[in-house]
Amino acid sequence: MKISIQNGTLVLDDRLKQADILIDGERIAAIAPRSTLPPADLTVDAASSLVFPGFIDLHTHLDDVIGGRYLADTWHSGSQIAVQNGITSLCSFITQGSDESLGTAIARAQKKAAGQSFCDYTWHLTPTRFDDAGWREIEAAIGAGFITFKFYTTYREAGLYSSYTELEERIGRLHSLGGRVLVHCEDDAILQRARQGETAADRDTRWPESACAAVDWSDPRSHARVRPAEAEVTAIQRLVEIARRTGARLHIVHVSTPEGVAAIRLAENHRITCETCPHYLFLDESWLGRPDGRRWICAPPLRAEESRRKLAEMVCAGGADCMATDHCAFTRADKESGGGDIRRTPGGVAGIGALVPLACKLFEGTDAEANLPAISRLLSAHPAQILGLYPRKGCLQAGADADLVVLRSGGPERSIRSTLADVFETYPGMSTTLSVRALFRRGWLIVENGEILEQDIPGGTWLCQK
Ligand SMILES: [Zn+2]
Repeated sequence: MKISIQNGTLVLDDRLKQADILIDGERIAAIAPRSTLPPADLTVDAASSLVFPGFIDLHTHLDDVIGGRYLADTWHSGSQIAVQNGITSLCSFITQGSDESLGTAIARAQKKAAGQSFCDYTWHLTPTRFDDAGWREIEAAIGAGFITFKFYTTYREAGLYSSYTELEERIGRLHSLGGRVLVHCEDDAILQRARQGETAADRDTRWPESACAAVDWSDPRSHARVRPAEAEVTAIQRLVEIARRTGARLHIVHVSTPEGVAAIRLAENHRITCETCPHYLFLDESWLGRPDGRRWICAPPLRAEESRRKLAEMVCAGGADCMATDHCAFTRADKESGGGDIRRTPGGVAGIGALVPLACKLFEGTDAEANLPAISRLLSAHPAQILGLYPRKGCLQAGADADLVVLRSGGPERSIRSTLADVFETYPGMSTTLSVRALFRRGWLIVENGEILEQDIPGGTWLCQK
């Protein structure tokens, strides 16, 4: 089937272009000047709309158990809110359990996603065994098309922690095997000190001397106190050194501070990329001070307003490579289950449905010629590059997968909805005028005027990263 998309403004990753697009089967067949395409089986009029390459959420948690609790979103619900808001590909995580092989963990995840996702999808792997057998499995996974691996500088209790020495060895070895590493950066020693109530009031004047007393675990604001910005910045600085020494490509996930982004940019090492998340750009730590503040407990935590504002400015100025949600939705019951002790509140917020509306809101009122391509880079080109999927995904050019979103702004105001699952909304009171007029995933029309057309068996497929 041939489809033509006419009269739209194409948002390339470096400029806007007035042109029409011809889709043939699952690929973009041609991009041509207005009214020069041959007749097609279906014509979509994209007048007064923007045509973006399909957006990619690089960092989501779906259909998985985290901290002993099943997440609120399945592949079906998570990918449905995704396509309704312009996202055509999702990346989630596979963590190897202590009693299973990496291959078993991968098979388990593949089974859960098959026939359930409206988006195309892939995973970052978190292996937990590094003996000879473990490394043979890692090599086999790379051979099978899994090239991105996630490590943590904290979470000892969950068995996820790697020391900086271990990280350097693993990063170097994965680099030589053709793998790429993503790192959760919060320095474990600093977090430990902060948890013991020794957050350095002398280093951080926002906290009065009295705040050095024992941590009040009933107050959600304590969550931000025990995960201070310096933990993130210190870990990032250590990873920058590791990147320099190993020559490996690294990606730092969910950077929450302007100092963290600055440390990455200062490195002048283009092999280090980073993402930040909408919640660090639109919410500050005052949300933790609300009576229901535990809803916004996530790691890293929300930061002070001044820090949030600076981070947003840096993203608008091109400081971050990607925006991703770190979508990690727990049910209302699970989020309330801590019995007043925030250490027992599961950490994570929903975000998939908010990603595109909030990214557009971030650049609202600014120079569209310059900033629409920036959105295209943050949500499409750069995530595709990090995943090793560019230019199959992440761009509008002949030969690429026909993942396209026809977006219109200035429509009726609607509330931002992060997920379809029964969870607390992350962005209550925030709204958007953005609407998805049409969304194509590999040439298939999946969404029209915000409504999902593909119902019975969602046709998203696994994206081999080779
Ligand atoms: Zn995450």
